[in-house]
This record gives sequence, structure tokens and C-alpha cells, in this order.
Amino acid sequence: MSHLNVTGLRKSYGDNVVLRDISFSVERGECVGILGPSGSGKSTILRCLNRLETSDGGSIMVGDTAIGPAPGLRNRQLRADLVNQRRLFGMVFQQFELFPRMTVLQNVVVGQRVVKGRAKDEAVERARRELDRVGLLDKQDAMPSSLSGGQQQRVAIARAVAMDPEILLFDEPTSALDPELVGEVLAVMRDIASGDITMLVVTHELGFAADVSDTILFIDKGVVVESGPPAAVIGNPQNERTRRFLSRMG
Ligand code: ADP
Ligand code: MG
Repeated sequence: MSHLNVTGLRKSYGDNVVLRDISFSVERGECVGILGPSGSGKSTILRCLNRLETSDGGSIMVGDTAIGPAPGLRNRQLRADLVNQRRLFGMVFQQFELFPRMTVLQNVVVGQRVVKGRAKDEAVERARRELDRVGLLDKQDAMPSSLSGGQQQRVAIARAVAMDPEILLFDEPTSALDPELVGEVLAVMRDIASGDITMLVVTHELGFAADVSDTILFIDKGVVVESGPPAAVIGNPQNERTRRFLSRMG
């Protein structure tokens, strides 16, 4: 069984059909790079997965868990379901989204305490381990605003990983960074991708996507135009839209 199965996913905002018919599957431990022009629906796909958004139709399965509001459930059950489903995913955003009034360590501890119900000592120990892994243990007592963008994003990644999600979602994690800070974040992502977590990465970093992804999805106008190994989709694209996109990316 695939780890993630998306079938016929649809989403519109009013008359704007954003996801027309999105289908793909991801194997356990795989890293999938998602490419596509701005406005093609990439973020909307990730937001439907972690239930920041509700699709209009189609299905999303993580293993044998269906993602989305189950028909027939009432308020409390719906809410519990939402929390349980969201727990399956970790998310790293373009704008880091750290809690500004918490130290670096507190940022990595709080979700473990509140969402996972971990004891304080356990959460702190895990947070330190993840901060060490992204090279920021020495910043554990710093406030986020005193860190560079690259450091903030590494903290955000440590925070997501510490929650032990089944699937990590990255939405253009390096797009807000000064060019000289991109490499340190990509290095951390590369390290995580070499482990056994399943990852979906929306990115404009073609070289990184080609290197790290097992599979590339090229999305345009709410459909998967082309998918396959990087050597095929990036190295030898078959579709005219993919070719045009890649040539614009240089
Ligand atoms: P991408 O991430 O590929 O750039 P998005 O998924 O963010 O694309 O957006 C796809 C389309 O959906 C865009 O036309 C965008 O304006 C529209 N859209 C996204 N979110 C909303 C929203 N909350 N309300 C209305 N329109 C939205
Ligand atoms: Mg986006």
C-alpha cells in the first residue's frame, strides 16, 4: 500500500477552479518534489492534505486513514478527527511562522507538550536533539527575531520533525531567504530526506529537487501534467508545458 494516495482531488474558490483533478501516490520514505508555476495550486494541495483547507471532492488516504471531514460526524467528533488527521502531517512554511514570544527551545517544545502530550523532560530532550541536528543547539535560549532567516527556518524544521509526523510538507521553504542562506536550509532538508520520513517539497530549487526527490510532480492549472523520476521530468520532459516552465527557470 502507498503511504499517501491522492485521487481526483478538486478544489474551487468561487468560479476559480484551482485543483481540477489531482491524482498521485507517494511510497513510504519517498521524497516528492512538486514543481509548477505560481498559482498552479501547489500550496492548495498541501493545505488540503493537512486540513488547513477542505477539498470539494476526490480522496486523500494516508495508509488506511481517510483525510477530510467524515460524513455523519457531529461537532466534537469532527474536531477530534481534524486534530488526529492533522497530527499525521508536519508543515514547514515559506515564512517560518515561529512563535515570536517564545525562545527557540520553547518553539520546539510547545507542540510536543500540547499536541503529543509529552512530559516536559522528554519534550525538552527531544527538542535539544532536533536542534542539534539542524546545528542550532547553541541558540536554544535565543528569541527567533535574533536569528537569521536561514536559522529560523532550521528551527521551524526541527519543530516539525520533533512532532514525529508521518509525512512532512514543505511549502517553498527557501523562497523567503536571502540567496546566501538557502544552502544551509537545503542541507538540513537533504539530511532529513536521507532518513525514512515521507516528504513532499514544493520548491523552485530545481537542482535540489532533481538531487533529492525520488519523484517529481509537475503541476499546472490544477492538474498533474507530468510525473516521474527527476531524470525524466526535469532531464527529459515530455510535455510542452513542463518544457516551457523549466526553460523559464533557467
Ligand atoms: P501556488 O502555491 O501553486 O502558487 P496556490 O495553491 O496558492 O498556488 O493558489 C492557486 C490559486 O488559488 C490562485 O489563483 C490563488 O489566487 C487561489 N487561492 C488560493 N487560496 C485562496 C483562498 N483562500 N481564497 C481564494 N482564492 C485562493
Ligand atoms: Mg504556493
